[in-house]
Amino acid sequence: MIELYCASCERRYPEEARRWLCECGSVLEVSSPVAFPKPKIATHPPNLWRYREALPLSPASPVVSLGEMLTPLIQPDPLFPRLYCKLDFLFPTGSFKDRGSAILISKAKELGISSVIEDSSGNAGASIAAYCARAGISCEVFVPARTSEAKLAQIKAYGAQLIKVEGSREEVGKAAFEAARRAYYASHSFNPYFFEGTKTFAFEVWEQLGWAAPDLLIVPAGNGTLLLGAYLGFQQLMEAGEISKLPRLVGVQSENCAPLFRAYQDGWSEIRPLEKTETVAEGISVARPIRGKQILEAVRKTRGFFLTVSDEEVIASLQAMAKIGLYLEPTSATATAAWEKVKGGPGMAEQVVVIPLTGSGLKASSTIAKIL
Ligand SMILES: *Cc1c(COP(=O)(O)O)cnc(C)c1O
Ligand SMILES: [Zn+2]
Repeated sequence: MIELYCASCERRYPEEARRWLCECGSVLEVSSPVAFPKPKIATHPPNLWRYREALPLSPASPVVSLGEMLTPLIQPDPLFPRLYCKLDFLFPTGSFKDRGSAILISKAKELGISSVIEDSSGNAGASIAAYCARAGISCEVFVPARTSEAKLAQIKAYGAQLIKVEGSREEVGKAAFEAARRAYYASHSFNPYFFEGTKTFAFEVWEQLGWAAPDLLIVPAGNGTLLLGAYLGFQQLMEAGEISKLPRLVGVQSENCAPLFRAYQDGWSEIRPLEKTETVAEGISVARPIRGKQILEAVRKTRGFFLTVSDEEVIASLQAMAKIGLYLEPTSATATAAWEKVKGGPGMAEQVVVIPLTGSGLKASSTIAKIL
């Protein structure tokens, strides 16, 4: 049976209730049976649906798919043969967000939902819009009024309705939150099914490393959808007895907007408001991550840490990666920039390290042209 539950007040809801928030105001999690039948997994097609026995979807209903694939895990540096990059920019809309959207919109379809709301002017908005187009679900995407038309082109092309909201990113979120009283909120930060999708990142890494967990995972962190998804996935593998330790999670933030790093350094368990400044890593420029407390907990539980990178470091890493054939969105290059800062540390060459390459440079060619 699939249920939604609240970790703060322990209320539970049947999934048919179509909730995405607890009555107490906290975010919800999904509770559903999880299994990893390896021989069966190996016979399924090479895509994220091969872990279907660990996904909270009814076996009876068809999934909403755009032909995702098991993203390649490559070894980019002969000096560090245990370093792997996972090419998540190869997803249908150009970023890993498709992991979350594929599962979330499949669930929406299964529940008979006909219209959804999302708020994002970036990759999450494009991804949700694409999967809604595929599913025949109508989609409203709330964006800041001053977002450039070029940035909105992909979302618009998929046929989503753009709702432009005056004010800060936080005010856009508030407007979407209000509107979500009348339509299903397919939010990449609130809706727990999104994280049920991003957890497939962990399953793929586990299988591709020969059914083993890496030592370290270096992940860009804004709303933490990939970080928390990876944590959830590895936790489920651990509970199922498939791995014996969790990888240490390293959350990467921009120096110009680092609420998680700050809270971690100061030993806080919650995020405090902060002034953000512009950064090339706009995909992780999130001043107040909704699941901030959970992200901090996940990183602490794995004995991981946060670090920050400057725009200069991000640009240098973006250029270095392009020189070996990997064209990344600036936000994605935060993780490779972070690797540059930690790789000289003691014992690093012996560690199995995985870095997701989260977004394609093709998303940001005009920005990259300016940088070059
Ligand atoms: C969304 C995104 C991130 C950050 O993910 P969060 O869920 O905000 O932590 C990193 N890179 C790219 C390319 C993204 O689209
Ligand atoms: Zn609650």
